[in-house]
Amino acid sequence: LTFEKLGIVKELCEACAQLKWTKPSQIQAKSIPIALQGKDIIGLAETGSGKTGSFALPILQALLDNPQRIFALVLTPTRELAYQIAEQFEALGAGIGVKCAVIVGGMDMMTQSLALAKKPHIIIATPGRLVDHLENTKGFSLKTIKYLVMDEADRILNMDFEEDVDKMLKVIPKDRVTYLYSATMTKKVQKLQRASLKEPVRVEV
Ligand code: AMP
Repeated sequence: LTFEKLGIVKELCEACAQLKWTKPSQIQAKSIPIALQGKDIIGLAETGSGKTGSFALPILQALLDNPQRIFALVLTPTRELAYQIAEQFEALGAGIGVKCAVIVGGMDMMTQSLALAKKPHIIIATPGRLVDHLENTKGFSLKTIKYLVMDEADRILNMDFEEDVDKMLKVIPKDRVTYLYSATMTKKVQKLQRASLKEPVRVEV
């Protein structure tokens, strides 16, 4: 199986080859064709499965069709995961000029406000700091977002980010695609799923 056979365009297949991703991982093989149909996805997968690629490749492919700023938001529980995700988006998107911003706690607000003012394509954020910017950074909004990813949703909710996620959901367009990835399907994750996804397809590995 190849990324090309899954429907990934040449520019992005070449980026995968550069990263030495010789073939799709299981979660990528199962979720990419569904994502390319424009559907919402619930992915049950752990870190290490290649789940970042399974949402980053379809989002970058959609961005190629519609090169627009503040296009996708990825929420993740920790700073470290946010940087790892940004690294993969930047590596996969290097050839197509993708700009990312990492918006996480413990870093300077002003530097992040300036990064947001430059209107990146992809924002990778922890929920608390994202809401801080929604409330305090002039000119920043999520109203153009087309793709929302909630990565490690079980951990996001266990870290008491529920209220921040709710605030974010209130100001993000309803007309968007949503991917929710979680290692476990808890009650809280099910509740978030009902509040944020439309007829999702469930993908497991
Ligand atoms: P993730 O589960 O998304 O955090 O990815 C774990 C690691 O696997 C990262 O270092 C990725 O670069 C790598 N990876 C993702 N997809 C593939 C693939 N198809 N082939 C080889 N390595 C991959």
